[in-house]
Amino acid sequence: KRVILVGPPGSGKGTQSPIIKDEYCLCHLATGDMLRAAVAAKSPLGIKAKEAMDKGELVSDDLVVGIIDEALKKPSCQKGFILDGFPRTVVQAQKLDEMLENRGAKVDKVLNFAIDDAILEERITGRWIHPSSGRAYHTKFAPPKGPGVDDVTGEPLIQRKDDTAAVLKSRLEAFHKQTEPVIDYYNKKGIVANLPAEKPPQEVTADVKKALS
Ligand code: ADP
Ligand code: ADP
Ligand code: ADP
Repeated sequence: KRVILVGPPGSGKGTQSPIIKDEYCLCHLATGDMLRAAVAAKSPLGIKAKEAMDKGELVSDDLVVGIIDEALKKPSCQKGFILDGFPRTVVQAQKLDEMLENRGAKVDKVLNFAIDDAILEERITGRWIHPSSGRAYHTKFAPPKGPGVDDVTGEPLIQRKDDTAAVLKSRLEAFHKQTEPVIDYYNKKGIVANLPAEKPPQEVTADVKKALS
């Protein structure tokens, strides 16, 4: 299966991804996680991406398309993939279609995590992540077993620099202006499943499985 997750920041894409990935043996590619790793490593890619990320703006299409093109070559991605946070512009969606066409493949399903903006500030400002795995926790909705540490590795959790109310505003603006048209793009192909994403995580998981069955 080739699956795309679209939704505003905090809609639960990263929380659902590992579950879908394990259920269907897919590779999980999250452009946000890859970009944060590049920023932390101060790699050429990270240096180019940092300013836009800090402001809550999108990184250039060329950079992220390059990352995805490279990552899709991995052996683990040949049977199928979940793209989390990509494509975020119509240009990225068109480039993805071209890349897949060249490989004789296509996108099977787009899961649209539909949620009201008003709910997202509490989700984003309470989010803590384990940077190397991308696992997300929440002080109120999904607290870790040990205070401030990842359940699996015991390593410390951090808050993302862009997970503030102020930067969230820009990220939501980018979502509505640049990413919502991506949903229309896939609606025209008839492959979008709309999921109510304000429900508790387990209920969203059930809806995801239904949409992919
Ligand atoms: P995204 O990857 O779409 O930005 P996350 O999966 O990281 O979103 O979720 C954002 C925050 O909200 C995290 O702290 C996560 O633990 C929490 N969260 C995720 N799904 C739900 C849900 N269904 N209900 C309540 N909180 C959730
Ligand atoms: P969230 O799921 O919380 O919205 P991500 O971790 O997916 O956040 O993305 C964090 C930041 O990384 C974005 O605000 C943007 O600057 C950059 N980014 C991630 N994916 C893309 C993409 N496909 N196109 C452009 N910028 C991206
Ligand atoms: P490196 O120092 O090896 O370039 P990066 O962190 O910059 O490390 O690269 C991480 C991943 O992103 C690699 O898979 C690489 O192929 C890809 N990548 C690096 N630079 C770019 C770029 N300018 N555009 C697209 N993809 C890139």
